[in-house]
Amino acid sequence: MAIITKKHEMPTQAPKDRAHNFNEVALGYSAEVAKEEAARCLNCKNRPCVTGCPVNVEIPDFIALVKVGDFEGAYKVIAKSSSLPAVCGRVCPQETQCEQRCTLGIKFEPVGIGRIERFVADYHNEHNSEKVEKPEFNGHKVAIVGSGPSGLTCAGDLAKKGYKVAVFEALHTAGGVLVYGIPEFRLPKSIVKKEVDGLKALGVDIETNVVIGKTLTVDELFGLGYEAVFIGSGAGLPNFMGIKGESLKGVYSANEFLTRSNLMKAYRDDPDTPIMKGGKVAVCGGGNVAMDAARTALRLGAEKVYIVYRRSMDELPARREEVEHAQEEGIDFKVLCNPVEILGYRNPENPRDMKNGFVTGMKCIKMQLGEPDAKGRRRPLPIENSEFTMDVDTVIMAIGTSPNPLIKNTTEGLIVNDHGGIIVNEEGLTSRTGVYAGGDAVTGAATVISAMGAGKVAAKAIDEFLTKEK
Ligand SMILES: Cc1cc2nc3c(=O)[nH]c(=O)nc-3n(C[C@H](O)[C@H](O)[C@H](O)COP(=O)(O)OP(=O)(O)OC[C@H]3O[C@@H](n4cnc5c(N)ncnc54)[C@H](O)[C@@H]3O)c2cc1C
Repeated sequence: MAIITKKHEMPTQAPKDRAHNFNEVALGYSAEVAKEEAARCLNCKNRPCVTGCPVNVEIPDFIALVKVGDFEGAYKVIAKSSSLPAVCGRVCPQETQCEQRCTLGIKFEPVGIGRIERFVADYHNEHNSEKVEKPEFNGHKVAIVGSGPSGLTCAGDLAKKGYKVAVFEALHTAGGVLVYGIPEFRLPKSIVKKEVDGLKALGVDIETNVVIGKTLTVDELFGLGYEAVFIGSGAGLPNFMGIKGESLKGVYSANEFLTRSNLMKAYRDDPDTPIMKGGKVAVCGGGNVAMDAARTALRLGAEKVYIVYRRSMDELPARREEVEHAQEEGIDFKVLCNPVEILGYRNPENPRDMKNGFVTGMKCIKMQLGEPDAKGRRRPLPIENSEFTMDVDTVIMAIGTSPNPLIKNTTEGLIVNDHGGIIVNEEGLTSRTGVYAGGDAVTGAATVISAMGAGKVAAKAIDEFLTKEK
């Protein structure tokens, strides 16, 4: 049989429609297409794709089952390693993980592993009505700080072993970045809710509006009878550029902008939480977060949205697919360009002028690429006398985030690195006995699947710690 050299296309909403709604952009494979894509797998002996997956999903096994139409069987294979397949099928950077190692990919396009995984997870969610059995309590209690992918995975793995698990979440909704950061058009909230509901059915207790370090400390959790604590508090502290004008009205961090829209429903006509809608928007940065902020601004009604990035299109760190989707929707990429000052309105005649303090523009400088830096990326250098002003009303900073120091500052003996990441050993154990950590709180901003992998590693180590002979 002739090899199909390209992945089956993922159907999507038309760019002109989707630029004005928050519905999911990618529509998913049908059963027939999923089977045809699965049939592209060479089922090679050394299975390099499995090693490319941070949680080692047995990819060829589930793909073989999809090929013969056993979608529930395929789901069971994935579920052995991944607790969030509908999420991973949508947002994992497969092109740099499993699909990058696909043998078919050496000559042709790799198998669309992520697209097939998404199909299997959606099929399961639609068709499965099996009731989750609550495991018998094993007598041990574990506390989890944060309900992002690392915390949820750790909670799920421990709950399945009979632990009484409580997740403490600072926000009013569980899910971490999956609900407050990644927008509905890439990851519908209903999918995350389903995963969270599944954990609750296993007996996991999720306590929202609890800020560890303020409402309770890690040490107080031990006092409440928890025998181990997993810290999965992410890296939600936004970085700013330190340029003039960053405190003007209309300047947001991407996290704030996305949280207002995703979690606080600021896109509604009658929102409790306001957000700048319409006008001209500049998003500074070139990663997934920048793409999400830019595309959200567009959907909120901006007349023009720019991505302002200091390197070239080739160095954009965002997933290629997200960049292409943003371009199709009409986002304007101003590359080799760096902000130097945000300009604001000031009426010296009338200090009560309501427009005082609002953004009116952003001064930028053109850049060129120099020699590669330590990471091998060509260093961006300013071009002398090339300043120019962009006419914008809103500026969104999407230039990275760091772990919040709150937990470190309130937990005796917890050691962090120079970037604020909690230091752990290969089992996720911190400098404190019984305290484990993983995900972005350890690595700094990374990926959903790596956070899940860390949650799994820690769950295994916590189980060993609490069940070993004392
Ligand atoms: C906008 C955006 C888009 C992204 N897109 C992608 C993508 O497409 N693909 C991908 O793989 N990755 C993506 N990422 C990165 C990915 O989402 C993160 O790497 C991942 O969510 C990290 O998981 P985590 O569990 O470590 O932390 P988080 O998801 O950040 O969850 C941490 C949770 O802990 C809570 N918390 C923090 N402090 C406390 C405290 N003191 N007490 C109680 N709770 C606390 C937070 O409120 C949060 O709910 C994106 C990130 C952002 C911001």
